Amino acid sequence: MTEPAEISSLTLNRLSLYLRCLRQLQDAGTTHVSSGQFAQHFELSASLMRKDLAHFGEFGIRGTGYRVDDLAARLTTLLGLDRIHNLAVVGMGSLGSALARYLSFNDKPFRIVAAFDVDGRKVGHKIGHLVIHHSRDIPEVIPQTEAQIAVLSVPASAAQQCYEDLTVSGIEAVLNFAPTQLKQHPAVRTKSVDFQINLEELAYFLSS
Ligand code: NAD
Repeated sequence: MTEPAEISSLTLNRLSLYLRCLRQLQDAGTTHVSSGQFAQHFELSASLMRKDLAHFGEFGIRGTGYRVDDLAARLTTLLGLDRIHNLAVVGMGSLGSALARYLSFNDKPFRIVAAFDVDGRKVGHKIGHLVIHHSRDIPEVIPQTEAQIAVLSVPASAAQQCYEDLTVSGIEAVLNFAPTQLKQHPAVRTKSVDFQINLEELAYFLSS
């Protein structure tokens, strides 16, 4: 039997976008929508949306379009957002603390269960209900907390070592904010986010 083709990041990002739009429709009390109406309202491509959804089987009803609640529920399940994912934050500076606060006060399916730093003024202190651990304890604490995803918000110089420690601890995915190219472990799904690169793209357009 052949393995199903892996869905690309771009497609997954669009599914997240469709889900966000569907939630807006739910809030507005809309129960049904055609792909044409949906695409027009949110300035998306109807044909691309039909193609994206076709990866996952039948969604719409011919002539009627999509039932908003059903499609939102199916996308929620497809994206794995129907269960809680435990997160660890490594680097509790400005960014790490802001992320921890943001994720503590919303209804998203991500829950911070562990926080790490090396600064003696932070280690042992609490942020919300979380005690900040020393990052040398990553291999011991991560399995206890059952964190699956780690957010890396340390300086670039510390990122690779923290990444290695996370890999050893059994973490399954890493979202890296440090501006460095990580040597990635094949078993750990790794994604980097970089504001600077986006700003540099805007700077290019402003100067050209
Ligand atoms: P910050 O200096 O406020 O925080 C960094 C924290 O990491 C500090 O608390 C420090 O003690 C801790 N730290 C240092 N070494 C560590 C280690 N080995 N283990 C655990 N913690 C350690 O910096 P910040 O503004 O929060 O930024 C954090 C990182 O995110 C930096 O690399 C920065 O360049 C990057 N950043 C990325 C984006 C983006 O778009 N990707 C945006 C802002 C900042």
